[in-house]
Amino acid sequence: MRIPELFGSNVFNESVMRERLPEKEFGEVMQVIRSGGQLSMQTADVVAEAMMNWALEKGATHYTHWFQPLNGITAEKHDSFLTYPKEGKTILRLTGKQLIMGEPDASSFPTGGLRSTHYARGYTAWDITSPAFVKEMTAGTILCIPTVFVSYTGEALDNKTPLLRSMQALSAQAVRILHLFGKTDVQKVEPSVGAEQEYFIIDKEKYLKRRDLIYSGRTLFGARAPKGQELEDQYFGVIRDRIGSFMHDLNIELWKMGITATTQHNEVAPAQHELAPIYSPCNVAVDQNQLTMETMKRVATRHNLVCLLHEKPFDGVNGSGKHNNWSLATDQGENLLDPGKTPDRNLQFLLILSCIMAAIDRHADLLRETAANVGNDHRLGADEAPPAIVSIFLGDQLDDLVSQICSSGVAAGCLHGETLDFGVSTLPVLSKDATDRNRTSPFAFTGNKFEFRMVGSSDSVAGANTVLNTIIAEAFCDAADILEQSPDFEHDVRELIAKNMIEHQRIIFNGNSYSEEWVREAARRGLPNLRTMVDAIPALTTEKAVRLFEKFGIFTKNELESRSEILYETFTKVTAIEAHTMSHMAGKHYIPTVIHFITRMADSICKTTEACPEADVSVQKELLMEASRLLADAKAALRTLDDDCEKLNTMDDPKQIALFGNEHIIPDMKALRAPIDRLELIVDKDLWPVPTYGDLMFEV
Ligand code: ADP
Ligand code: MG
Repeated sequence: MRIPELFGSNVFNESVMRERLPEKEFGEVMQVIRSGGQLSMQTADVVAEAMMNWALEKGATHYTHWFQPLNGITAEKHDSFLTYPKEGKTILRLTGKQLIMGEPDASSFPTGGLRSTHYARGYTAWDITSPAFVKEMTAGTILCIPTVFVSYTGEALDNKTPLLRSMQALSAQAVRILHLFGKTDVQKVEPSVGAEQEYFIIDKEKYLKRRDLIYSGRTLFGARAPKGQELEDQYFGVIRDRIGSFMHDLNIELWKMGITATTQHNEVAPAQHELAPIYSPCNVAVDQNQLTMETMKRVATRHNLVCLLHEKPFDGVNGSGKHNNWSLATDQGENLLDPGKTPDRNLQFLLILSCIMAAIDRHADLLRETAANVGNDHRLGADEAPPAIVSIFLGDQLDDLVSQICSSGVAAGCLHGETLDFGVSTLPVLSKDATDRNRTSPFAFTGNKFEFRMVGSSDSVAGANTVLNTIIAEAFCDAADILEQSPDFEHDVRELIAKNMIEHQRIIFNGNSYSEEWVREAARRGLPNLRTMVDAIPALTTEKAVRLFEKFGIFTKNELESRSEILYETFTKVTAIEAHTMSHMAGKHYIPTVIHFITRMADSICKTTEACPEADVSVQKELLMEASRLLADAKAALRTLDDDCEKLNTMDDPKQIALFGNEHIIPDMKALRAPIDRLELIVDKDLWPVPTYGDLMFEV
């Protein structure tokens, strides 16, 4: 099939609906998608039937309410279209009610105490703004209806509900700002998101030989290969056949589901790659990113490969992240983050920029928290990943504007490429020239969008976008509250821009964010440096955060507390799994191997000396001594790890357990890894029980 026929062929999108729904019902659906409101039950019945018939033609046997619970992945429970046979005749049905609402029970998803298992009612509700699609799997072809997931009492149990709430809040506040600038025809403003996805691909047979990869998605042991990424010969390099054929298949699967996978390339680390889609409305982008990750894993298996989405599968080379490109589009087609040719005179742009500076500075801790997951603790601040400190990179042009405004209250001109223009230049400006690049910044302006680069590769981008939308809604709201009362708009808007920029200039950093100097400088500026997930979780429940989220109806205090509890528990669970895996691997694989090696060495010494008493066996002795010493270190470290894991079981407060895990188990794991990784370099390759870094990263 050619791409135009292929693309979106498994999506129940606008054009399918136009074709298959009666005009009245189609109009009603589009009205709700654009402006909100409720679909009548009669219309829902009509839509459901059309949707089912369309899915049946695609070979679907079941439908599912597809949702995103708080375990970070997507959930689905398949129900067939079958109903009770009438007079021996099978009837297939999807009703409006089934389309709109489901009650999956789903009592085993994390709720952070929001409901106990015996009050397990949870509801899913159709998110009409994200199109339904058909997924082809070995389990059958399934009609997926994107939904939100809430408890019996209406509390959000998923990532989607707060995201949709935040989009609504942001739209309302952005519209207020635009109306102040006379753009009264704007009714809706929507964040656009393009999530670039990094991942590793390795061979499945080798993967299956490593318990750490199987249980935790990353290598918990492993000496560095002689070659890493130092030659930078992988980045943008020619894509090998096996990977190319995986990418080709992946693209086809994604295109069918209407996902605009466009860019593919090799990333910096060996065996690392990236996929970028074309941006779409925020909630659609979130759904599609989840679907992309799931499809990557599925398609890789078909090729006898494994896709690793972990943030740091291998020590010593780059980890994987997700670049969340974010901008704001009005229903009139304007991108509010486009500076235009003369940003110095573009008060609307400057106001929006100043609000974004205020928002990021005020809530840097919250934004950092959205990138907190267990895997990302190994990535942030290591091997070419943004540090755990949030700052904004603006590029020369905007940075110059901010500096001018901060020092004199106004911008008298702006940089165009290399030249400083004092407002008289008539030369055209290419926006690309005005913004250079900074790969080290966690929140970088890239021409007409911001790129948030902290999110981990396995994480949903829902959290980051929920927070971005909400904190920027708050800054817009503050600005609109002032300016709507203003007797002299032009004067007051300039004053507000300057005030915001001066107050929040400290969040701007254009230098090298990977450097040690920046860590010190950020501390001097008072910017938070929340190094680990456990350090970042409290940001969710500060008084400031609760006030923010409650004001805009995104989360109640209760919901925030439950989420923070889930995060602590997740940290502990993942850490415990890793610790147990290490203990297992050390005890069952490495230590016996090393003992075997030492015995072999001892045999060799004895036999050699017996055969030839004058022979020099100093090398064997040295190896034997060193291996024995490292073995003793490993055994001691293993004992400490096991003891500390025991202690975890005696505690019951989720936060205390997580803190203990962070302070003790993580260092214990490092202490166990160190001697084993050294041993790997000593012990014969044919004895070593698992594939090495070299095998995993270079033999795909
Ligand atoms: P860059 O090279 O600056 O990273 P790309 O053009 O490769 O830019 O885009 C990276 C991602 O950003 C893609 O997913 C792209 O669709 C997305 N993107 C481009 N423009 C916008 C925008 N205005 N808003 C949100 N995302 C965008
Ligand atoms: Mg990018």
